[in-house]
Amino acid sequence: DVVVVGSVNRDLVIEVDALPAPGETVRGGPAVRLGGGKGANQAVAVARLGRSVALVGAVGTDGDSEALRAELAAEAGDVGRLAAVDGPPGHAVVLVDRRAENCIVVSPGANARVGVAAVEAAGALRTAAAVVVAQLEIPAAAVVAAARLARGTFVLNPAPAPSSAAELPQELWSLVDVLVPNRGELARLCGVAEASLAGAELARSAAGLPCERVVVTLGAEGALVRDGEQVELIPAPAVRAADTTGAGDTFCGALAVGLAEGRTLTEAARFAVRAAAVSVTRTGARTAMPTRAQLAAGSAG
Ligand code: ADP
Repeated sequence: DVVVVGSVNRDLVIEVDALPAPGETVRGGPAVRLGGGKGANQAVAVARLGRSVALVGAVGTDGDSEALRAELAAEAGDVGRLAAVDGPPGHAVVLVDRRAENCIVVSPGANARVGVAAVEAAGALRTAAAVVVAQLEIPAAAVVAAARLARGTFVLNPAPAPSSAAELPQELWSLVDVLVPNRGELARLCGVAEASLAGAELARSAAGLPCERVVVTLGAEGALVRDGEQVELIPAPAVRAADTTGAGDTFCGALAVGLAEGRTLTEAARFAVRAAAVSVTRTGARTAMPTRAQLAAGSAG
């Protein structure tokens, strides 16, 4: 139903009292090893919501790569399309201080070697019913290959954001059916300050992108949907936020599920706003992602 083409990371998260300055060594709490990567996280979000998902990407050849593969098989299902390339898998080293400010280093590892051939070998992309979702933690050529092959709806989460819209291949813009940036990513794509993206300016920027259908995620404010001439703000339900890590990935996964089920873009975004709201009430990126049953039972939205 859904094909995710994207990154797989091993996250190493350490809490510190204060983030270290250059040259400084600080003592932190226990090192927590988690599965991460936007591609893997979005695939898990889809699986939690009860749709079948295939993940196309790459891990390395070390023991931890096998562990990542096994974790994903348990959490998301079809990881048969994860190539094993020489060397380490992608890593993210995350330092978080007491105020939840963070500092992150991403080492792409195997993600940098997701190739066009591997994407082309993923037959599921050619299924007309499939929603194909990609992000930008793998080479642009692989993302373009996925967009070219996708027979169903192609959704791009432009994260991490390029420094301008022009930095993405022109061909990719012509192939994106739905673009899902957060406010910061939209700001970079439009070359404006993030703080200026509110109210009418926000709608104007979304309308200025070379893509007819755009969903901008707005944190606690919800999401803005632009579907051609139609623009609608979908407010997020008020929740007690415990940890917003992974909210965007939950949103993208849930949006893909909604589209795969034949909902309109606005309906799918409403569904995604509800799923992401549940995810922020719980800690962890993947552990916080709701199941369909939890979403139905929850009061959110
Ligand atoms: P990212 O995680 O990429 O920074 P956002 O912060 O925009 O993305 O969050 C993604 C989505 O998660 C939002 O569109 C919203 O639906 C939901 N969300 C995030 N923070 C909150 C919050 N404090 N309360 C309710 N929903 C939230």
